[in-house]
Amino acid sequence: MAIIVQKFGGTSVADAEKIRQATKRVIRAVKDGFSVVVVASARGKQTDQLVKDALELNPNPPKREMDQLLSTGEQQSVSLFAMALDASGYDAISFTGSQIRMMTDSVHTKARIVSVDAGRIHRQLDQGKIVIVAGFQGIDEHDNITTLGRGGSDTTAVALAASVGAEQCEIYTDVDGIYTSDPRIFKNAVKLNQISYDEMLEMASLGAGVMHPRAIEFGKKYDITIHVRSSSEDKEGTLITHEVPQMEGVVVSGATIQRDMAKISLVGVDNIPGNAAKVFAHLAKAKVVVNDIVQTEISPEKANLSFMIEISDLAAAREAMDKIKKDVNCQNVFVREDIAEVSVIGVGMRSHYGVAEKMFGALAEAKVNIDSITTSEIRISCAVDEDQAEKALEAVCSAFQLDKPADLRNA
Ligand code: ASP
Ligand code: MG
Repeated sequence: MAIIVQKFGGTSVADAEKIRQATKRVIRAVKDGFSVVVVASARGKQTDQLVKDALELNPNPPKREMDQLLSTGEQQSVSLFAMALDASGYDAISFTGSQIRMMTDSVHTKARIVSVDAGRIHRQLDQGKIVIVAGFQGIDEHDNITTLGRGGSDTTAVALAASVGAEQCEIYTDVDGIYTSDPRIFKNAVKLNQISYDEMLEMASLGAGVMHPRAIEFGKKYDITIHVRSSSEDKEGTLITHEVPQMEGVVVSGATIQRDMAKISLVGVDNIPGNAAKVFAHLAKAKVVVNDIVQTEISPEKANLSFMIEISDLAAAREAMDKIKKDVNCQNVFVREDIAEVSVIGVGMRSHYGVAEKMFGALAEAKVNIDSITTSEIRISCAVDEDQAEKALEAVCSAFQLDKPADLRNA
């Protein structure tokens, strides 16, 4: 029998009524002839509440204990879900991550999945049961409970889909799909029918917080089509899938805004071998994640080096720069905290010209100054003043007609 994985996020299992609703999706899939594996998140804001509870007792809780605590949210959801299915006359059994040997590394609070033993799940499915698995959690080789990082249930679902050989992986959530842009800012954003893994990865890491980026990486690696759809409304959502030729016809699939960033520029660093390595070695040691690195030679003797970081890493980054400044003979460290990044994303960029021109033109017309520009094969990003960022996003969305479905845009 074909297997389907259905993942329900926190809002979709928030209370008894929501759980009952969610079970209807499961029952329908059973009636359609599928073996169903359900992955559930903690109910509502439960994980946030558990974090608060922890911080009340200890401002810096041991990470192992944090995982031990946070994993309990999902354990409640899955057992309740199984009980609800039982009440409707369906045989169901719930498992924690450890019960299905969801093995991870030992990096507490952001562990990575190493392997899953699908055997126990298959045995239950073969007996005609619906299997409900706790998202977000696993165990390491020493049997310590681990978690995959906030939002990690998506990753559990896609990883399970790969390991049980599922035909589909559905992510039921409180939005009805992936939009061309953030509808809270660009009111006329439209839902995408499909998006490629690479585009979705760019969107997810650039602040479109719909899905856990690791889930998309798994999807890409094992070619699992992910269907992001609404748990309250019965309609098609967005398929995250491998690239199809049709996608190349669309120049830009989406636009994002990323806030809470800072830009650090090291001005007049000695232009000699090894200096960039020194700077980034210090940042790595301070565990600062760095994006959009730009280095330019300004004379045979000197170079400028700049990069973006998350604002939460700023204190650590400043400290690292203070340590390295003299060593690389930097004339000045310049920090901008009032910055945001607006990006356009689309695999079609590879085969279309004029994308950069259109983006910069839209920003010029909106009188938004561009601080710096970075690109990848499928993305152009502009750093702009934070207080102009929303205006910038709107201008860019309009220029690329992101208020229209791809097939209705003018060339
Ligand atoms: N419950 C976890 C969180 O709130 C995992 C998830 O929902 O995906 O982050
Ligand atoms: Mg989520």
